[in-house]
Amino acid sequence: MIRKILKAYKVTGGRMDQHFLVDARTLDRIVDAAELTKDDVVLEIGGGIGNLSERIARQAGMLYIIEKDPKMVDVLTHRLLESSDGAFPGNAPGGFGFKNVVIIPGDVMETDLSAVPFNKIVANLPYSISSDVTFRILEQKFDMAVLMYQYEFAKRLEASAGSKDYGRLSVHAQYRAKAEILFDVPKSFFEPAPEVDSAVIRLIPGPAGYEVRDVPYFLRVTQALFSQRRKKVKNTLINNRVMIGIPELKEILSDLCPEDITESEIIAMMDKRPEELPPEKIAFLAGFLYDKREEKKNSNTGKQ
Ligand code: SAH
Repeated sequence: MIRKILKAYKVTGGRMDQHFLVDARTLDRIVDAAELTKDDVVLEIGGGIGNLSERIARQAGMLYIIEKDPKMVDVLTHRLLESSDGAFPGNAPGGFGFKNVVIIPGDVMETDLSAVPFNKIVANLPYSISSDVTFRILEQKFDMAVLMYQYEFAKRLEASAGSKDYGRLSVHAQYRAKAEILFDVPKSFFEPAPEVDSAVIRLIPGPAGYEVRDVPYFLRVTQALFSQRRKKVKNTLINNRVMIGIPELKEILSDLCPEDITESEIIAMMDKRPEELPPEKIAFLAGFLYDKREEKKNSNTGKQ
């Protein structure tokens, strides 16, 4: 059925991250996972030929689709917005005349998402911008996202400390949302087939459950730590002391006092490897370093 749509509109894909999901059961599973009701306003990124859009539109109150390729915008308009008068190429299903669908032509990275009043996101994302798009989404307020990613990327989003997939992306994303892989999707379910398998993830934004003193600094310390994920935390921090903004870090770490509760926790982390530190420990470490950096800054200004 979906191959028929591709054929009818002479869509071959392969450019602009175009890999169309042609397995109807998987399309249904993605939409089911979003638990849509008529109260939901959904954002879809990369509508393609509207195979997912069509299903979302039937269940949600409203659907906004951002699509970059003008050719796809034409297909989406034709299939979703126009009312059927039998004039569809190759008898491809379409002409649904949805009244609750808005197509926003353009690049998701250049679209002001805060101007779109969505509460859920459902999308088979363009894979080359997975990371950028994810963080762009996570800056917005919403209830739930059901997103398809490359399998390896999905694993990194979901990973916990100690796993080989755990890293900067896991810490950053999980600080903003709970990430859970729902199911895997083999590459053969796409047309044209991509080079890698995929997985569907559910993201539920919410408070992380630990304190972060300063978010940009927490992210910077995370980046520094995972630049050398298998070295000892202590050495990694010292190697990255300039990036962390504490040139005197070596001396500070040597002077830590085991009798002090905070400092003894920091000492305990120093011989571990960054990949073993769960997000809450990284947040604790970043908070400690932040205070040290502020202290040094103040004492340096005092000297001048
Ligand atoms: N939802 C469809 C299509 C997925 S393919 C399906 O599941 O089959 C990814 C889609 O994203 C393509 O339609 C592609 O044209 C679109 N796309 C690629 N880069 C984009 C960008 N930067 N902004 C918006 N859409 C983009």
